[in-house]
Amino acid sequence: ESQLNPNYNFDNFLEGDSNRLARSAGMAVANKPGGTSFNPLLIFGGVGLGKTHIAHAIGVEIKDKYPEKTVLYISAEKFTQQYIESVKKNTRNDFIHFYQLIDVLIIDDVQFFSGKSGTQDVFFHIFNHLHQNGKQVILTSDKAPVDMQDIEQRLLSRFKWGLSAELQTPDFETRVSIVKNKLYRDGVEMPDDIIEYVAKNIKSNVRELEGAIISLIAQSSFNKKEVTIDLAKQVVEKFVKNTKREVSIDYIQKVVSDYFQMDVSTLQSKTRKRHIVQARQLAMFFAKKFTKASLASIGSQIGKRDHATVLHACKTVDNLSSTDKQFRKYVEDLTKKLSL
Ligand code: ADP
Ligand code: MG
Repeated sequence: ESQLNPNYNFDNFLEGDSNRLARSAGMAVANKPGGTSFNPLLIFGGVGLGKTHIAHAIGVEIKDKYPEKTVLYISAEKFTQQYIESVKKNTRNDFIHFYQLIDVLIIDDVQFFSGKSGTQDVFFHIFNHLHQNGKQVILTSDKAPVDMQDIEQRLLSRFKWGLSAELQTPDFETRVSIVKNKLYRDGVEMPDDIIEYVAKNIKSNVRELEGAIISLIAQSSFNKKEVTIDLAKQVVEKFVKNTKREVSIDYIQKVVSDYFQMDVSTLQSKTRKRHIVQARQLAMFFAKKFTKASLASIGSQIGKRDHATVLHACKTVDNLSSTDKQFRKYVEDLTKKLSL
């Protein structure tokens, strides 16, 4: 079981400046797995830009050219789960052995390994074995190796051995061709001006671009309406709103005050009552965490405090959340509310 999705292939991965390097490196690797200097091939880039698609495409192409080769696609998360399971069941060696026999190993979203030293260690050994035996390793990540955190140095240095290719956000032309290709494959027609309107407004994530188109098709067919620019505007607006999710300091104060059932003015007031002070400190903490505002600016917006007060608040929240269970619950609940 290779876990490959045949719908993610090179034919339907539209080429553009944003992905040319990654796409051609992927094809080169698919033509000669283990036989190029792109080993490992690491593809990195933001959410919804096609990392998983390319990862599958390479595997699908290799399976096509070299049916005898064993190709395995797995997410880093699933790999981690399997590893933990093997430790529990005392089958760690079988786990390692299984992976060392693969010809082409594709691991998606390796940023998931960060902070997981057991998994990193086992992957390090598997990687070395495969690499020494001329087997191909393909990795994807949301960051370049230099920006990865909590990954051991020896593993990071392996990641840099081959080629790191970035997937950037596609330009307008490429976005239009991606949409047209999708519509064509689905057998749906849509006027050019509408396609262009959507492609112009949804820029940073191909998954969302496709999502908007799918939603547009669904709305028009359920409501038996023509796809009009107005409908496209409504759909795009929803997507853009959902994506931006930009958290403002005002919004944070509102969410925190609602959570503690107090008014924003109470949260900002000079009172030293403990539960109000805590709410204010939490608001400062989240403002630091979720916005780019400076400490001074956070302080002035949350009840005209100075930057030292904000810094103190952030430290207090850090401390309390590791020592006080109830307080930790506040932090967790609020994190959830603010991340939606
Ligand atoms: P990531 O893994 O980087 O988050 P995915 O590989 O899941 O992104 O891609 C999101 C969606 O966008 C998928 O449906 C994929 O097929 C599509 N996609 C991304 N880039 C392209 C492209 N250049 N051509 C065609 N489809 C693309
Ligand atoms: Mg992905």
